[in-house]
Amino acid sequence: MLTDAFTPVFLLFAGLFGLAVGSFLNVVAWRVPLGKSIVRPGSACPSCGTPISPRDNVPVLGWIILRGRCRSCRAPISVLYPVVELSTGLLFLAAGLRTGMSPLFFHHALFLSLMVLALRTDLEHFLILDSVSIGGTVAGLGLSFLTGAPGFVPALLAAAGAFLFFLLIRAFSVAYLKSRNVRVEAPEGFEEEEEDFQSGLGWGDVKLAACLGAFLGPGSAVAGLFMSFLAGALYGVTVLLRGGRRTKPIPFGPFMAIGGATALFFGNWLWNAYSNFGHYR
Ligand SMILES: [Zn+2]
Repeated sequence: MLTDAFTPVFLLFAGLFGLAVGSFLNVVAWRVPLGKSIVRPGSACPSCGTPISPRDNVPVLGWIILRGRCRSCRAPISVLYPVVELSTGLLFLAAGLRTGMSPLFFHHALFLSLMVLALRTDLEHFLILDSVSIGGTVAGLGLSFLTGAPGFVPALLAAAGAFLFFLLIRAFSVAYLKSRNVRVEAPEGFEEEEEDFQSGLGWGDVKLAACLGAFLGPGSAVAGLFMSFLAGALYGVTVLLRGGRRTKPIPFGPFMAIGGATALFFGNWLWNAYSNFGHYR
């Protein structure tokens, strides 16, 4: 499918575009939850306020050159910055390899960007932005119409189904925690929002499930959500085995983001493998 001479140029562009988008996603993920503008001012060190020079702001390389510390005050810069940039670059490259130069590339690129955003804001702020979950659902439905992936009706059904499924899990989780009298301890810095953590599964996760459905369609959405539960459970078990007492909430958004991104590439394959397996039982 990718044979013409232009392909390497397109893939290079896709990867570099991903690095740049990743850099922008870092800005959004850091500023929007704090209610700051994403346009002004330019990037500055959160500790000392010194503006970051364009040279130090180059995706991934900037962080490596600075060895993860601010040039003026030596405050550490989160490793999430280069990780987000590099992952977005690689994910866009993978999307380009899969879709070639077609409108489907933008469908994949937008979905992957939303997953990266959900991952970072949920890790740092215990928050999935409505513009990611609700905005993403609307964008996914619109793109399904334009690109035919996965088709408007399948996208709509998958979005509604995933939303209702997560609503149900949330209701069960609330009832379970209440019946057991479990009080979920708010993480450090989020004490004022302790009430929001008592549901086990946040509203942000429920709304993000709809976004996964809208972009992935029924089969892949099932595969993606299943993988997120599996990854979440494995992580939970690892934490328990290490002997820690797990009283703090674990953000589920990162698992959904990883499950969703994996399903974008391998969801159909997994779904077909599962369906065929059914024939031989
Ligand atoms: Zn500084």
